[in-house]
Amino acid sequence: MFKSMLKSASLGIDLGTANTLVYVKGEGIVLSEPSVVAVDSTTREVLAIGEEAKKMLGRTPNNIIAIRPLRDGVIADFEIVEKMIKYFIRKITPYKWVKPRVVIGIPAGITEVEKRAVRESCQQAGVREVYLIEESLAAAIGANMPIYEPSGNMIVDIGGGTTEISVISLGNMVKSNTLRIGGDEFDDAIMQYLKKVHNLIIGERTAEEIKISIGNAYPSKEVKKMEVKGRDAINGLPRTLLLDSEEIRDSIKEQLNAILEGIVTTLEETPPELSADIMDRGIVLAGGGSLLKSLSEYISKETNVPVFLADNPLTCVVLGAGKYLDEIEKMKKRKI
Ligand code: ADP
Ligand code: MG
Repeated sequence: MFKSMLKSASLGIDLGTANTLVYVKGEGIVLSEPSVVAVDSTTREVLAIGEEAKKMLGRTPNNIIAIRPLRDGVIADFEIVEKMIKYFIRKITPYKWVKPRVVIGIPAGITEVEKRAVRESCQQAGVREVYLIEESLAAAIGANMPIYEPSGNMIVDIGGGTTEISVISLGNMVKSNTLRIGGDEFDDAIMQYLKKVHNLIIGERTAEEIKISIGNAYPSKEVKKMEVKGRDAINGLPRTLLLDSEEIRDSIKEQLNAILEGIVTTLEETPPELSADIMDRGIVLAGGGSLLKSLSEYISKETNVPVFLADNPLTCVVLGAGKYLDEIEKMKKRKI
């Protein structure tokens, strides 16, 4: 027990817009929970965090609201983020005398003030050393891309609320663009489409299920079908509807196109030598949103650049943060 607690003194954290993951050196990924906080809307008191808070979504009395404090890749509510970070760190190191060292992945667009808030939250949760790393960099490390070489590497991390498109060379970010479009916007588009075209009202969870089971980005021979239950927008009664994958692809085409345009713009802004490398090596996709069927095929066909899906799209940021921890330790030893 004692030994295991000492071993657990180094953590990698992926503070995602949809999910927070924690990696403990020597143990692996020990926590993966939604980045959701349930709050009493009148008193602002935090009632639940993570999995427990997500379960409350849509099933709670009106005075309880569920907040996703990082939804747009920026910190909307510092106090709530602080509580969330503290909660997750304490959940893993429940003993106050364990003072962990933490590498935490943060969105590229985050401001200095936000960085300080993340640092301070960690310190207040008893963290002894805090290192921040850009999520894209962590994702590329976790996806085993050769980012320390003097050549261009492009990683596209499609999360819940944002998509980060980055070019990395010699271990540094050369270029990074953040789009306020992620997997969740696909769910929203599906919900709006069903309401507009079929007068059917469905919840976010159902929309996500539709996206995961029959959603795709590029036409395929096999057309998938799915029966969906919702509420009729006109008479308010429950109704079922048979949907197919072609229709769903059509409903998300704007979002797909926005991601594609973001990639094209970033390629255009990349120095020519580095973009030539990207043409050769290909673009790597990461993040839960990249699991949409045939997304890599779509981007590849539209850009004429090879596109690969990372082996571990949902965990590469946290694994990369963990590996970065080892790099920091090596650097420290070298200095001595
Ligand atoms: P973040 O890093 O912002 O927390 P994640 O990388 O965890 O986000 O990705 C969350 C997004 O991935 C959600 O929008 C979710 O619906 C989507 N997602 C997860 N699995 C799949 C899948 N199999 N197909 C399509 N989208 C998926
Ligand atoms: Mg992420």
